[in-house]
Amino acid sequence: METILRVLRQEPIIAYFSMEIALTDSIPTYSGGLGVLAGDTLRSAADLLLPFVAVTLLSRKGYFRQELTPDGWQIEHPVEWQVEDILTPLPITVEVEIEKRPVKVGTWIHILTSITGGVVPVIFLDTNRPENAPEDRGITDFLYGGDRRYRLKQEIVLGIGGVRVLKALGFEVRKYHINEGHAALITVELLRQEKDFNLEAVRSRCVFTTHTPVEAGHDKFPQDLVHEVLGEPIPAPLLRKLGGEDYLNMTLLALNLSGYVNGVAKRHSEVSRNMFPGYTIHSITNGVHGFTWTSESFRNIFDRYIPGWAHEPGLLVRADIIPDEKIWEAHQREKAKLLQFVREKTGMEMDNDTLTIGFARRMTSYKRPHFVFTDLERLRKVKRKGNIQLIFAGKAHPQDFEGKKLIQEIIHQSRELRSEIKIAFLENYNLEIAKKMVAGVDVWLNTPMRPLEASGTSGMKAAHNGVVNFSVLDGWWIEGHLEGVTGWSIGPETEDGKTPQQIFEEESDDFYHKLEYIILPLYYGRIDWWIKLMKNSVSKIASYFNSHRMMRRYISEAYFHQIILNNHH
Ligand SMILES: *Cc1c(COP(=O)(O)O)cnc(C)c1O
Repeated sequence: METILRVLRQEPIIAYFSMEIALTDSIPTYSGGLGVLAGDTLRSAADLLLPFVAVTLLSRKGYFRQELTPDGWQIEHPVEWQVEDILTPLPITVEVEIEKRPVKVGTWIHILTSITGGVVPVIFLDTNRPENAPEDRGITDFLYGGDRRYRLKQEIVLGIGGVRVLKALGFEVRKYHINEGHAALITVELLRQEKDFNLEAVRSRCVFTTHTPVEAGHDKFPQDLVHEVLGEPIPAPLLRKLGGEDYLNMTLLALNLSGYVNGVAKRHSEVSRNMFPGYTIHSITNGVHGFTWTSESFRNIFDRYIPGWAHEPGLLVRADIIPDEKIWEAHQREKAKLLQFVREKTGMEMDNDTLTIGFARRMTSYKRPHFVFTDLERLRKVKRKGNIQLIFAGKAHPQDFEGKKLIQEIIHQSRELRSEIKIAFLENYNLEIAKKMVAGVDVWLNTPMRPLEASGTSGMKAAHNGVVNFSVLDGWWIEGHLEGVTGWSIGPETEDGKTPQQIFEEESDDFYHKLEYIILPLYYGRIDWWIKLMKNSVSKIASYFNSHRMMRRYISEAYFHQIILNNHH
């Protein structure tokens, strides 16, 4: 440990800050896509031997463990994990001020190691210390729990506490990478340390990645709350100038104080530029960590036919050289594993030769998890052309009542259709279940309301396993989709001049139509053609939508790039 930290002190590092990071299921400090992206970022950083350190919150009680009642209602349980058994304590504490009280922040470390010999230390911040007032000890308990006040306290610990911890550890930081607005208070701490509040000096050290395509999704705090909880680390008028008058808007703050800003897909960057006119917002489309998200069966065939693929995922463009039967055997093996898992968890017997559709992600309105059930008569008509079965998974945020109702709707619909279409819901979606699902289904479905899917990444995971995407044209899919080649779109190409209702009707019509007349006939009648689509998913999607390509772009464009002055407002 000491050696690792000593080596990292020898050169300026990239410090990556994220409210959640998905490393393994035994460290349950993540909720979904954002955390998985952070985890994949660090896995690639380690593989590529980058001088990198990550900072996050301990989230001692995790996000939550999901259980469904017999009636399909989600119940949340705290996740008990033995921090002491999994992480190593560091002898470093720093202090931050919250509501004018000093709050001690302790540190734990996990060293992410790569097969290449690369390492990335991940530092977890913890306020559960005897010196702290009882209410402050719980600040780092629940990921995305509590109210606005609780969230602001967490963001003080992450942004301000995190910068102080890196300093106490003796790191020289080349760039602070603010992964989503939650960590934007980094900028306030850096500004506080600057003589004369030199904005340029802070901008030259900060990189900001925004992930939110809607105004309402941005983290905002009323100024009186900010005054009470944060106080005045920098003069209040200056903070208002940088972060907003009525509310402290964390996205705005990060935009104003970062020398490089990007969205996570081309479309998302456009949407962000429209939301924040006048700012230069670049685009680096997300990717997933190929080795992590490729199943054992596919790793084996890639190793044999495309050696070196894990380090240079671009080589997957050659997937066509893999014999058809190898692809099919590998897929059927992963499918059998998934269906066995479904059997164990739900008692449902699914069939290995039936077209299986997967849908798993956060259960929330804009993702429209109930889209399949829009027109049950048409769904029945589809099913008369050829059998289908569906597997769902996903958690709703504890305060997202609509999201919980959608889960319940899936459960109710699956009962309604029980004698015709098998539909399983896997409880407590996590990394392990995601790995099984993205490898074991035949078709990966995504039905977001446009343009609300900033990127989405699960379809990229599916493509690494030859699973074919069937999705609304939003987020990354706009860049990955070639109709009938890498999968299929759902709905029109652009929204231009159409009402939301028209778009919805086109989408649902397209969905049932393609399922009935293209997807089912291909799957049951033209397996050679289907396997071609599977190979295309690898050669045309996995070869590009991976986090090694993404990191190489962050390195050359965000971390090691001249600061273009007047690149900001
Ligand atoms: C990949 C992943 C997500 C994100 O899925 P999207 O379809 O991109 O929203 C969420 N949760 C888990 C556990 C994942 O592995």
